[in-house]
Amino acid sequence: MHASRSGTHISGAERLLEQPDIAEEELLKMLRRAWDHPRGRADEISLQVEEVAASLVMKGRLLDLSGFRVDNWEQGRSLAQSLLAEAGVAPNVATEAMSVLHHGAAPGGVSMRGAMLVDADTGARLETNHARGVRVSRMDVCQSLREKLSRQLAMFGLDRPQVVEALTLASKVSSTSQVLAELCWSDDPDYTAGYVASSAGYRRITQLKPLGEERGGRVFFIRSGAGCVADLVDFLERTPYLFTELGQIEEMRQWKGC
Ligand code: AMP
Repeated sequence: MHASRSGTHISGAERLLEQPDIAEEELLKMLRRAWDHPRGRADEISLQVEEVAASLVMKGRLLDLSGFRVDNWEQGRSLAQSLLAEAGVAPNVATEAMSVLHHGAAPGGVSMRGAMLVDADTGARLETNHARGVRVSRMDVCQSLREKLSRQLAMFGLDRPQVVEALTLASKVSSTSQVLAELCWSDDPDYTAGYVASSAGYRRITQLKPLGEERGGRVFFIRSGAGCVADLVDFLERTPYLFTELGQIEEMRQWKGC
C-alpha cells in the first residue's frame, strides 16, 4: 500500500500472506490505516497485489526485541550512537548519519521514501536515488504466529502495527551479513520512538526525535567492501521472506547513560 497527498508520501505498508482468502480483509485494514494517518488524509492510495511462488520464500526467525526508556530525544540519540558503535559502525559515521536524518535525507530536506545505504567505515552514501532510497519489501510474520506475537508485545504495551512492521523489516535487513546495523526513527509526527537493530537484536528507544517532527528515516550501515551492493538491494527489495519463528521479547529498561 502506498498513500500520498498532492504527490507527497504519507504512508506505506507491506504484507506477505500465505492464505489468499484473508487478503481481502488485510487489504481493507491497510486502506483504513492509509485513510486516517496522523500525517494527513491521503488523496491517492495505491494497493498492489502480486502472487509470489511459495518455493521462492525464504524463512527465518525474528530478532530478539528489547527496549530502553530515555528522558528525551537527545539522550535517545546518544544511546543509539553507542549501540551503533557496539555493532561496528565508526562513531563519526553514526554521528553524521543521524545529522543527515535530522535535517531530512532527501533533496529539499525532507524524508526519503526508503532507506539510506551507508558504508559503516567511510560514511559514503551508496543508494543510487537519494529521494527514494532502498525500499525493503515482501516480508511478513507467518499468520499462525501473529496472534502469539501480538500477545507477547501487548505484555509490554507494544502491540501496534508500527512495531510489528518495523520488527519484521529490521529482521529481514539484519538476516544478511552485509548489513552491520540499522537505525530508524519514524516520519510520523506523533511517533517519537525508533530503534537500532543488528544481529544483537532490535533495540527500541522510546525517544529519538522531538514530538511533532515530520522528518524521519532509515539508515542501513553496510560492512565495508562486503559483497555487491546491487545484489543486496535486490535481496532487500525483491526476495520474499517469511518469519516462522519468534524471537525473545524483554522488558523495557530505563537507560542510565554511558
Ligand atoms: P516509518 O517507520 O514508516 O515511519 O518510516 C520511517 C522512515 O523509514 C521513512 O521516512 C522512510 O524514510 C523509511 N522507510 C519507510 N518504509 C520503508 C521501507 N519499506 N524500506 C526502507 N525504508 C523505509
